Order: sequence, then C-alpha cells, then structure tokens
Amino acid sequence: MRSLSSKDTMLIQPPAARACALLEGAGHAAFVVGGCVRDTLMGRPCHDWDVATSALPDETMRVFRGCRAIATGLRHGTVTVLLDGEPIEITTFRTEGSYSDGRHPDGVRFAASIEEDLSRRDFTMNAVAYSARAGFVDPFGGREDIARGVIRCVGDAQTRFSEDGLRILRAVRFASQLGFDVGRGTEEGLYRCAGMLERISAERKASELEKLLCAPFAAQTVGRFAPLLRTVLPVSANAAALLSRLPASRTLRFAALLSDCAPQDAQDVLRGLKTDKKLLTAVGTLLSACAEPLPETVPDLRRAIGRYGALWEDVLAFRAAFFDEKSPPYRSIAAIRRETEAVLARNDCCTAAALAIGGNDLRGLGLAGPEVGRTLRRLLDAVIDGRLPNERKALLDVVNTTSVGQPTSNEKR
Ligand code: ATP
Ligand code: MG
Repeated sequence: MRSLSSKDTMLIQPPAARACALLEGAGHAAFVVGGCVRDTLMGRPCHDWDVATSALPDETMRVFRGCRAIATGLRHGTVTVLLDGEPIEITTFRTEGSYSDGRHPDGVRFAASIEEDLSRRDFTMNAVAYSARAGFVDPFGGREDIARGVIRCVGDAQTRFSEDGLRILRAVRFASQLGFDVGRGTEEGLYRCAGMLERISAERKASELEKLLCAPFAAQTVGRFAPLLRTVLPVSANAAALLSRLPASRTLRFAALLSDCAPQDAQDVLRGLKTDKKLLTAVGTLLSACAEPLPETVPDLRRAIGRYGALWEDVLAFRAAFFDEKSPPYRSIAAIRRETEAVLARNDCCTAAALAIGGNDLRGLGLAGPEVGRTLRRLLDAVIDGRLPNERKALLDVVNTTSVGQPTSNEKR
C-alpha cells in the first residue's frame, strides 16, 4: 500500500482534473493538494479533492462562471465549484501569518507559489501537490514519509504545534487512521506543546477524537499516546485493550475510552466536549449497565431487551470486551448474545408496545388514568414470564376477569 513514491504520475479524479485543466487553460497554475494526494498515493479512497491555484478568488469565479461556483470562504480564498456533481474546493495559494491565540492565524495572505502554500501545511504527507502538467511538487519529502509510514511536521514541530494546537490531535488521529508512526522530533513536539490542547474548541477536539477512536489503529494509538490524550480527557487504564476488542462504533469506543469513570463523570466529560445528547446518554447507559447483574433466565433477558432496546447488543459487546475470550464470564455473555439473537428472531414480546393490545383497548373496557399503564405493565410481565400468550383475545379475557389486577411477583420485589 505504501509504494507509489517513486512514480511521477498520479490519477486525479475526473472533476478535479477538469477543474485544474480549466484553471490552467485560463493561464493559472493549479494543483490537487493535501489529503487527496496523500490518500491516492496510499491507494486509499479519497472523499474530498482540494485544488490549490495561483488564481485569485474572483479570477477563479470567472473561470467557473458557467458552472455552479460558490465563494464558500472568501476570507480564506476558497471557492467551491460543483463539477459533475462533485464539490471541488479551490483555494488560492496562501500563507498564514502568526497565530497569537494558538488556534487561528492572525491573517491570511495570498502566496506567490505552490511551494509557499505547501510550507504552511501541517505534515509532510499533507504537503504534496500534483498537477498533470507539472508533476509532483514535494519540497518536504512527503512522498517518502508516506512510503515509510511516518507523520512528520513541515518545519519545526514545536513551532508548528504551538501555532495551532489542533495539529497535535490531527497527528494522533492520522496515526490511528493510517497506522503511521510519528517521527521522533514530531513526537517530542507533541508532548512539549500538549498544553496547547486547552485552547482548542470542544467541538474540534470531539470531532478529532471520534475519528481517532473509530479508526483501524485506535487501540495501538490510544495505548501509545494515552499520556498525551489524558490532557484532554481521563483515558481509562485498559482503554487500548477494550478498543482492540470492540467494533468501530462511536458509542462503544467512547465508553471504552472512559470506562474507568463513573457514568455521571463520563457524561460530564462528554458534555464538556459538547458531543451530542445521544452519545452522552448511550455512554452513560453502557457504563451503568456494567454494574447490573446479567440476566439468568429468558424472561429476565426479555426484560433487559425491553429496557435497553437498541442498546442491548452494545451492552453485551461492551461487557464482553472486559474479558478474555476463554474466560467463564466471556462465555456466559456469549451465551446471552446467542439467546438474544433467538429472542429477537422469534420476535418475543419484550415491551408494552409489542403487546397484542394497547391502551385504547383497555380504555374501551372502562379502564382509565394510571390504571391503564399499570395493567399494561402487568400484562407485559405475564407475557414475558410465559404465563399468558401474547394474543389479543387471551389478553382481553384476562383483563375482563380482572386477574391481572393482582400484583405480580416482580412488583412485590
Ligand atoms: P481528511 O480530510 O482525510 O481528514 P485532510 O488531510 O484532507 O484529511 P483536511 O482537514 O481536509 O485534512 O485539510 C486539507 C489539507 O489542509 C490538509 O491535508 C493539510 O494540508 C491542510 N491542513 C488542514 N488542517 C490544517 C492545520 N490545522 N494546519 C495546517 N494545515 C492544515
Ligand atoms: Mg480532506
């Protein structure tokens, strides 16, 4: 996969190639650049094609006046052009001034050459440009670093990380996505500048963390950079082991990362990162579920499925991840997973909503107020325990003869 560094041509996605050709036809220089070049050289699918050009934004707008062109980031010199349905971001060569706040350049200046534009980019692997006309422009040895699988800063690591702390998390995220090593000087810079992470906005931290956690090399990366990541959030001692055993779901992986926290504390961490409510609730539920006894009977399993709903399979996957595959607890969780599949395949009734009758039926029989909910819960208990079939007639008969008015064994508990 890491091989093409010696080649001097590269295949450009047709709409991006067309954008470059149109700019060149109008007398401007144009290159594909950044992530799309890196990913193409690695044989990875590429999701966004960025073009860097000597054309000023209004010149770019003129070149693409026949197409849909939107000045998406004029302050940064970016015009987005829709070609064959593909959005292509076209940005004028630029350099960045100083970064007094550690996260935004004080000013953006247009640059005279692609080389100057490449020198403001974060890592050598992201600072390679290519055009069919000029070939590769690779002043920092990015292709060689891609071939060796190394993440290295463009220029002095400490300077670059103190300009923009987000680069610290980007480095670790790329290590996790690409399975790359981090160069020695760059790693030193990461730790020396760790304090810069405080200046990064919660949303940007959360977005990088999510990409990092759901990437193929998350376990190794979190294991290696745990001390650095602990400046952002309380990474659990066994996070790497848990991550290595869990599928790439954001809920499971954030829960693994925070598994040493009490559920409430994990939720506070996620709230601080401004993650969405769904993730926050799910992680809290997964962590609290670990303190619950595992269901020992099929009715208990149906109750758990009813209670946790779509999260139940995640609860089991998460709990299993704490154990070695040969250990007795792992095997009992595996048995519950198989039984869960059977319950779901049989479509067993696990929730009041799945009962063959509903609240309106009970109201039709003269029940009212809280009695409706109470009766539904009792019927559900009876169906889950197998004392009643989940059939409309049977349930209505029972309500009519009021036998469900008796508290169930569960309620007495
Ligand atoms: P991906 O899109 O796969 O996450 P990418 O490398 O394309 O990776 P983008 O955020 O799309 O990342 O940025 C495009 C390019 O802009 C990068 O390849 C890099 O050259 C440059 N870049 C992005 N963020 C920074 C930054 N914080 N500092 C310096 N250069 C950056
Ligand atoms: Mg990109």
